[in-house]
Formats: sequence, C-alpha cells, structure tokens
Amino acid sequence: LTESDCPFCRIAAGDIPAEVVLTTPDLVAFRDINPQAPTHILIIPREHITTVSKLRPPDAEIMGKLFLAARELARKEGIDEDGFRMVVNAGVDAGQTVFHVHMHLLGGRVMGWPPG
Ligand code: 5GP
Ligand code: ZN
Repeated sequence: LTESDCPFCRIAAGDIPAEVVLTTPDLVAFRDINPQAPTHILIIPREHITTVSKLRPPDAEIMGKLFLAARELARKEGIDEDGFRMVVNAGVDAGQTVFHVHMHLLGGRVMGWPPG
C-alpha cells in the first residue's frame, strides 16, 4: 500500500529522486537530504506504515529487516567497527516529521548521549 502524498512512498516508487543505496522487494534505503553525520541513511519499508505506534504483529518481519539492512549498510559504509546509531523517531514529541516509518542510520562521527 503506497500513498501518493507521502514523500517516502514517492521515493520508493522512484517518483522523487533520492540517492538510493539499497533496494529489496520490501525495503528501500537512501541518503538523508539533510545529513546529521558523515553517514546518514534512511531505511524504509515499501509499505506505507505511518509510525511505530501503528505497528501490528505482521509488521515484525519488515521491522527486523530494517535492522539487518542497517547492519549491511554500516558495513558498506565502513562504520561497523567504530560504531553507528539507529534512530526511529515515533510521533511529534520525538521529532518525527515524515509519517512513513523510517530508521535513521547514523555514523562516521562520535555521537552524544542523551539525544536531544
Ligand atoms: P524524522 O524527523 O521524521 O525522523 O526524519 C525525517 C528525515 O527525512 C529528516 O532527517 C529529513 O532530512 C529527511 N527527509 C525529508 N524529506 C526528504 C526527502 O525528500 N528526501 C530525503 N532524501 N530525505 C528527506
Ligand atoms: Zn508512505
């Protein structure tokens, strides 16, 4: 299920250009347009799921695949040894701005903690 007014559905469909770094039948990964680290990649399910609070048990498989894709991309980017961070903002208070579930993969610099 895709939505024509969702920017990430449109990137997954190839309707909006993006620097795509990985595609599989059920997920797409592309570089963030406003990178917050030397590596900043967004990994999304092709299916339009708005946010983590709407996940259902059948979504477990795709959410697991997002982690496996992050691991593969971290290795490709050369950040798997030094470390990397995965972030999923869920809802307005967390800073979610695009309501299509996405995992941020960040690396290539030392991260602060706690996050803002
Ligand atoms: P959120 O704050 O929802 O967790 O993250 C949304 C992210 O999507 C932001 O880091 C923002 O820079 C990125 N973003 C928003 N629109 C686009 C777009 O059209 N293309 C790309 N590549 N990234 C986008
Ligand atoms: Zn979408």
